[in-house]
Amino acid sequence: MSSPLVVVEGLRKVYPRGVEALRGVSFTAFPGELIAVRGRSGSGKTTLLNLLGGLDVPTEGRVFVDGKEVTALPEAGLLELRRDVIGFVFQSFGLIPVLSAAENVGVPMRLSRTAPAERDERVKALLALVGLEQHANQRPYELSGGQQQRVAIARSLANRPKLLIADEPTGQLDSQTARQIMQLLRALVRSEGVTAVVATHDPSLITLADRVLELRDGVFLEAEPSAV
Ligand code: ADP
Ligand code: MG
Repeated sequence: MSSPLVVVEGLRKVYPRGVEALRGVSFTAFPGELIAVRGRSGSGKTTLLNLLGGLDVPTEGRVFVDGKEVTALPEAGLLELRRDVIGFVFQSFGLIPVLSAAENVGVPMRLSRTAPAERDERVKALLALVGLEQHANQRPYELSGGQQQRVAIARSLANRPKLLIADEPTGQLDSQTARQIMQLLRALVRSEGVTAVVATHDPSLITLADRVLELRDGVFLEAEPSAV
């Protein structure tokens, strides 16, 4: 059996002013798994994903990604990890408005200093992968919400990450578009071999996930002692 890509041990997060957003969360994710993190608003989903991606630091507990302890990395190591190992997709797409779809997808490869010819080729392949080869030169405002999220997904895969972190990626989309985006994510996890951790309320992703982790008030339900 392969070793886990993600190991989360006993995460607690207490925000200033005392809100305890996570109260001891542990799980592992294996290569190629699509994990849905479900839970109502305020249950701690975003906090958990931010800690996974090294965007914030926990009050207690540890996170390992690809054998590196994220929670112990200095800022330079975190930058490298977020550039080379982790791809992020957000609810609000996060595209740069003045750049075309192709230029947005190319940004992570500029940061990793990929050679221009290789970058152009990979941008084309990525846009084709998400079905947007005809839209390469359009700016985000010339694209629908679903198309913008496809660009963001293509961008997240630019540097061939091992881990994809998506925080409510369909939260701003109508239900039909949401379903298409979820199916795209499902297909990409298979074809690209990435591990994905996706926070969602969306029933159509829940059914596509390999595993569902349910957060309630900062703890996983499965981790609680079962009622007798
Ligand atoms: P979810 O993504 O499931 O909606 P969050 O992780 O955003 O949940 O929030 C969990 C809890 O932590 C909520 O009570 C929220 O108000 C609180 N919280 C989130 N971010 C902050 C912050 N930066 N400062 C203080 N409290 C926060
Ligand atoms: Mg959230």
